[in-house]
Amino acid sequence: MSALSFRGNSSGIAYTVKVSRRARHARLKMSPEEGLTVVLPVGFDPKRVSALVESKMEWIMKVQGNFDKHRAAEPAQAETALPEAIELAGVGESWRVEYRYDPLRPGIFIRELDGNVLDLSGGVDNRAWCFEALEQWLKHRAKLKLGSQLTRLAAINGFKISGVSVKKQKSRWGSCSSRGNINLNLKLIFLPPELVRYIMIHELCHTLHMDHSARYWEAVARYDPDYAVHDREMKHAWRFVPAWFSSNR
Ligand SMILES: [Zn+2]
Repeated sequence: MSALSFRGNSSGIAYTVKVSRRARHARLKMSPEEGLTVVLPVGFDPKRVSALVESKMEWIMKVQGNFDKHRAAEPAQAETALPEAIELAGVGESWRVEYRYDPLRPGIFIRELDGNVLDLSGGVDNRAWCFEALEQWLKHRAKLKLGSQLTRLAAINGFKISGVSVKKQKSRWGSCSSRGNINLNLKLIFLPPELVRYIMIHELCHTLHMDHSARYWEAVARYDPDYAVHDREMKHAWRFVPAWFSSNR
């Protein structure tokens, strides 16, 4: 898709318009999450979109009706509950989460209390705000704890790195730049410690060899003799990320 994307509305139906370089013809897409999307080829006159949507109204209403029926049939699964506890296996921490409604506080206020209690107060009836606040807190926690673990592991084993960053990423657990900057996926904080250590060793060894050559794996084996087992386990490691974190964000 190109950058051009806008919202439109005809006959009370809201939709998103996207211009795609790969599209040959205008087409309509419906999804339960995003509703109606109109995909246009480059050069399609945006003034014609409204007529296009009108001409497909029967199909749109039928698909929308199916989504509504489906949603009504399983209301429980549509919403992920807010967590009451958060296990951060990767850094050996376990937190209890408390939600306190306070109409006088705008937004969400989040505090770490003694005894590993995470206290959210304010508009906690707004689920989206709560998820947002928890994610911000996790980012902060992961930077602090995973960052210091990596720095320590590097120092103990004599690796030279120039920086560490922790980000939420979809498909990569870590990466290492040619300048020795290591990036870790925030979701590592949910994984068993031996897998977190393996990913750290994996990236640290890229400061020695930027490839996955035999020499590279020899280096990894020196710091993690079980690396082959760990590498295999990483293929299924997404299951350690809790549903409230992976499905809501
Ligand atoms: Zn690698």
